[in-house]
Amino acid sequence: MSYKIQTARFLKEIMGNYFLGMKDTEKKYAWCTSVGPAELLRSFGFEVHFPENHGALLGASRTAGDFIPESAKLGYSNDICSYLTADIGSYLKKQTPLQEHYGLNGPPKPSIIVYNTNQCREVQDWFMYFGKELGVPVVGINPPRHVDEVTKEEIADVAAQFKALIPICEQVSGKKFDIDRFRETLKLSKEATDLWKEVLWTARITPAPISFFDATIHMGPIVVLRGTQIAKDYYTRLLDELEDNITRKIGFLEEEKCRIYWDGMPIWGKLRTMSDLFIQNNAAVVASTYCNSWVFDAFDERHPFESSAQAYTEIFINRSETAKEKILAQLVEDFRIDGMIFHDAKTCANNSNNRFGMPQRITEKLGIPTLTIEGDLCDLRFYSEGQSTTKIETFLEQIESVKMMS
Ligand code: SF4
Repeated sequence: MSYKIQTARFLKEIMGNYFLGMKDTEKKYAWCTSVGPAELLRSFGFEVHFPENHGALLGASRTAGDFIPESAKLGYSNDICSYLTADIGSYLKKQTPLQEHYGLNGPPKPSIIVYNTNQCREVQDWFMYFGKELGVPVVGINPPRHVDEVTKEEIADVAAQFKALIPICEQVSGKKFDIDRFRETLKLSKEATDLWKEVLWTARITPAPISFFDATIHMGPIVVLRGTQIAKDYYTRLLDELEDNITRKIGFLEEEKCRIYWDGMPIWGKLRTMSDLFIQNNAAVVASTYCNSWVFDAFDERHPFESSAQAYTEIFINRSETAKEKILAQLVEDFRIDGMIFHDAKTCANNSNNRFGMPQRITEKLGIPTLTIEGDLCDLRFYSEGQSTTKIETFLEQIESVKMMS
């Protein structure tokens, strides 16, 4: 019988409720970047919508291709973030898979739009478009980029930027800032993110109870519901199931021939095909840069502003090459990785880590083989299935033969 994570049933329910809740036009909504100040916004009582989540949905439902050309008509290049081009295109075309699944004509109308350029500048341009189009305020945090280690001065700077959001949030929400509510939300977020980390870290065990491909599905609540009890409860449940599977020695592969690390963005429209390809080759894709992006070790409700500043500034995507290399080396060791696959996503240079010699340095320093495949998060015109399948299968054979010889 094929391996299934049973908790997925609740995931469907939780995500369904999250989207159905957006039908309530009485509520005030904030739009926020996926690694933006969601906790601060929630503390003001805003419901939070994440445009990147909608972008991923457009990718996963393979509807992005219908919408990207609409943005191109406005001058948005095919080479920039396909979350952005798909999301704006969906708005222009007045179509979304949210309609079919949840009866929503589109994402909820925001009262405020908030970005954090910790991941890229694209989010700012994207949100500015909607701010102008929908006539709502757009505010943001601009932390230092590509940091080695985050310094005290940088934390102070970013914490001050968090605090500067308060007056506009008070004005738009009509509520006074309540530090206890902020602390409480951050605490819930920290508890959920700790559980999410534990979930991902169960894959260190052989047989691994969760793959990278499973994790891209189960990460929904940590992205859109962190800071709520719902997310915490969900990951408690998921972790229980995975730990139980570990005890019973049940994993998604009966025999793991090798363990792979996936670097960069998922190819949303090809998740199932990709997952099947690795499973057929008994290759366990057990860790990734992408799913780890919602592990925020630094959150600490005793210092809500400073710890938020630190957690959101030290995310992997915002680190220097040297810092990234160190993090990857640790993960390779922790997850006993035999090979790394770098996804060179055509429209996201920010999250394609192959472009400055990283694969070569990893092989040289850690002695593990790497492979780069070309593709994209949403725009499948940049992905060749035949070519990638051949490359991946050859790569896995090579790993296997090296393992057999050692
Ligand atoms: S990090 Fe990449 S995929 Fe994410 S919003 Fe920025 S450009 Fe788009």
